[in-house]
Amino acid sequence: MAEFNSKDTAAFKGVWVFCEQREGVIMSISYQLLSEGRKLANDLGVELCGVVLGSNVKEEYIKALGGYGADKVYYCDHELLKDYTTDGYTKVICDLVEANKPEIVLIGATNIGRDLGPRCAARLHTGLTADCTHLDVDVAKYKEFLKTTSTIDVDNTAFEENTNLKMTRPAFGGHLMATIICPRFRPQMSTVRPGVMATQPFDEAGAAKTVVEKVPVTLSKEDIHVEILEIKKAAKKLVDLIGADVVVSVGRGISKDPEKGIALAQDLANALGGVVGSSRACVDAGWIDASHQVGQTGKTVHPRIYVALGISGAIQHKAGMQDSECIIAVNKNADAPIFEVASYGIVGDLYKVAPMLTEAVKALKA
Ligand code: FAD
Repeated sequence: MAEFNSKDTAAFKGVWVFCEQREGVIMSISYQLLSEGRKLANDLGVELCGVVLGSNVKEEYIKALGGYGADKVYYCDHELLKDYTTDGYTKVICDLVEANKPEIVLIGATNIGRDLGPRCAARLHTGLTADCTHLDVDVAKYKEFLKTTSTIDVDNTAFEENTNLKMTRPAFGGHLMATIICPRFRPQMSTVRPGVMATQPFDEAGAAKTVVEKVPVTLSKEDIHVEILEIKKAAKKLVDLIGADVVVSVGRGISKDPEKGIALAQDLANALGGVVGSSRACVDAGWIDASHQVGQTGKTVHPRIYVALGISGAIQHKAGMQDSECIIAVNKNADAPIFEVASYGIVGDLYKVAPMLTEAVKALKA
């Protein structure tokens, strides 16, 4: 095998996506990252590869990755890869990267990805940008992105023309967006939070064309310093905010009677067929579980309808919901920043407005 040198940037080619599986089922973040990776691979004119580690993962699940853009899937099948271990997964991914030298590696910022990404980056002597919200390789596309998301005078600013991955993420508590590059080392690694990138529609023809390469895995029990005895799932039912079509979120505006405020939001969510979300203020106050939190340190959602009840619209909250198709904000302060991103704004008391909305929805359905 050719010697691996992360500084030899010219030797690296191709875009890879780590496709996480749990209990043999591919996580939806993989489809989001493949869809985004497809655009990057097209801009670079290179192959997009998915990488699956597991044991006896169904072939149909692996082939399906082609339906989201993968030209090829590396499948590493080994009984020690059935469940995630830091040691086992890091070794196999790093061996694969060293042998094939991809220029970009994308990993979901799930609990597993947040553990795996930095380990691999350190072992490969390269950089990693965590929690990215935007990725570009093409300078023209990056300029377009800046025009719509920043106050930079893009047309009168000099940009270096290159194909370095421009990895954008919130910085300084979400008060500004930082674009980070990794120009001297390869692969360029990035984690992306679930729900941030859109999934392209499934393409049957793409799935049929995907090439699956079963990679021989060199891994023994001695490589892994922990032994998984049992996996216990959290007993509480977590709310599926990311997959929800409708999210009705509560903010500190419910402070007068949090229990009633949440019940009103739940009624409206039930009427609309949605789930209840929250700002961080309510989570910090202990009114609602953290799994409901929307925003920079919560979940990123793209529902068809997002209702914000008594939420001011802080930048960290908007970061998690501003791409919703239709935003309805209820706030008693007409100057609340949430109205800047709202499709419909209602200035009023949420304890009065929310029940009226619920009744109106029920009446429409009747
Ligand atoms: P407030 O800002 O206090 O707003 C309450 C709103 O309710 C006000 O606009 C008020 O006019 C309105 N109101 C009051 N009573 C009523 C009523 N009866 N009827 C109607 N309206 C009423 N926040 C998040 O949400 N998610 C995050 O992920 C997140 N991450 C963060 C990360 C960092 C690093 C930092 C520094 C902060 C983060 N925050 C996050 C916190 C964020 O900055 C705000 O503090 C938070 O979003 C405020 O929540 P809020 O809008 O519910 O409360």
